[in-house]
Amino acid sequence: MGKIAIISQHRFVYDDCKNLWRGDGENRVLLSQCEELPGGGDYRAVALVLWSHIASALASLDKVVIYLGHESARIFVPLAAENDLAPEKLIFVYCDCTKAYVEEVIDRDGYSSAQKICCHCSDRLEVMKGIYQNFLADGSLPS
Ligand SMILES: [Zn+2]
Repeated sequence: MGKIAIISQHRFVYDDCKNLWRGDGENRVLLSQCEELPGGGDYRAVALVLWSHIASALASLDKVVIYLGHESARIFVPLAAENDLAPEKLIFVYCDCTKAYVEEVIDRDGYSSAQKICCHCSDRLEVMKGIYQNFLADGSLPS
């Protein structure tokens, strides 16, 4: 039984559910995802909206899974630090094409010991979906 949040600037779950909390069993996911960036590509504005969806629940969450893109990494990682999230509470997912840069941002904010999942560009959304579905199914997290 547990609760996690998943944040992604790319939408990876397609359903009609408007509720941020998914799952009605023992394992629940606070899903904060975005379908597309607003005109102008204001990454910071988008990231702050996504973060606002989980901000009040942070203390009650077992894990916070965050997809880090090249632009969003430098917004989400500092937000995690500002909110005093422990490295053990975080799972960072990113793409191999941004690996060097994203890991530098992660290290800079003291999160080098956080769990990191580096995936290929082509399957990043599948990786996110897998984390989401597995947790809802049986509370498991990537090892
Ligand atoms: Zn990529």
